Amino acid sequence: MNLIDDFRDPARAKALLTAIDVVTGEIGATAENPVHIMEICGGHTHAIFRYGLDKLTPPGVEFIHGPGCPVCVLPMSRVDECIEIAERPEVIFTTFGDAMRVPGTRGSLMQAKAAGADIRMVYSPLDALELARRNPDREIVFFGLGFETTTPSTALSIQAAAREGLGNFSVFCNHITVPPPIRALLDDPDMVLDGFVGPGHVSMVIGTHPYDFIAEDYGKPIVVAGFEPLDLLQSVLMVLRQIRDGRACVENQYARVVPEFGNPVSLAAIADVYEPRPSFEWRGLGEIDASGLRIRDAYRMYDAESKFGVGYGKGAPRVVPEPEGCACGAVMTGRMKPTACPQFGRGCTPEMPLGALMVSSEGACAAYYQYGGARALEAAE
Ligand code: SF4
Repeated sequence: MNLIDDFRDPARAKALLTAIDVVTGEIGATAENPVHIMEICGGHTHAIFRYGLDKLTPPGVEFIHGPGCPVCVLPMSRVDECIEIAERPEVIFTTFGDAMRVPGTRGSLMQAKAAGADIRMVYSPLDALELARRNPDREIVFFGLGFETTTPSTALSIQAAAREGLGNFSVFCNHITVPPPIRALLDDPDMVLDGFVGPGHVSMVIGTHPYDFIAEDYGKPIVVAGFEPLDLLQSVLMVLRQIRDGRACVENQYARVVPEFGNPVSLAAIADVYEPRPSFEWRGLGEIDASGLRIRDAYRMYDAESKFGVGYGKGAPRVVPEPEGCACGAVMTGRMKPTACPQFGRGCTPEMPLGALMVSSEGACAAYYQYGGARALEAAE
């Protein structure tokens, strides 16, 4: 038996499901009156559907899919700005593959590439740095995107560029942070949330204390979780036990990976390179104070917004409404299940996505489609 088998062991899964069933009954939760548990991270959403945990857990447990997919929460205006930069003849625009098919108002990066823009997929910002070294006559722009998980690697690439004096490298910074949108959701009087499954990868970087406010200010339990089926089942059980016992605290189910105080090297790189933006627009959530990061003045020459005068670099960014019939905002905030969107599986599929939630490997709509497919569509009809 290897390590992965341990975390997928059917006997242990059965024991956890029995315990979840018992505690759900003790709480008095039913299909009509369920406990609402938000899994913040899109990786957890996919794991829940991949392993069928939504079907295995009792009907008294309802998973609400949170805004923890960085590609999904990117507003259309930022995709437009990527294309605006990429279309400049001197630019080689580099991005992770996930972002290539996200639609903006003028199409996606993939379509801009087909139309002639020099856009290249990379696996790391270090690949973009290498391109900058090899192409001194071109401007290499890296699309910095993601939560605290990817923020440090972008910061390290900017620090490396500064050390080497690479003047032709810059970052279009769209890095965002997890705690502010959670506070925004908790402040929303229309949201019914009883507890949270906290993100595992983000917490490897920031630790568990940035979530203290969820328990202390809002009285809600949160359990930081791993990504294997037993991790998730155990985390759900821990959240349910807190609810049953009238407790609210931050617990760490993923302690084998997540240190209480995070990763000091990553945190130091983040603090050196970035500062919070006064506010940042999130698809489906609107502007949220201090939820995005910008590059500090000390590294201004590596900031593509300032270098090319786009987005926040030219003042207030454009606000672009969602496409007609798109329910991404409602799905993103847990108000609607993906199958309830009129476009699901019809005007919006992984092959022809209308919204970002159908594109990203962490998007809730992609999870429903991938693991439910035609059945999910039939169920919606
Ligand atoms: S089905 Fe498509 S349009 Fe509807 S919410 Fe999902 S991604 Fe958005």
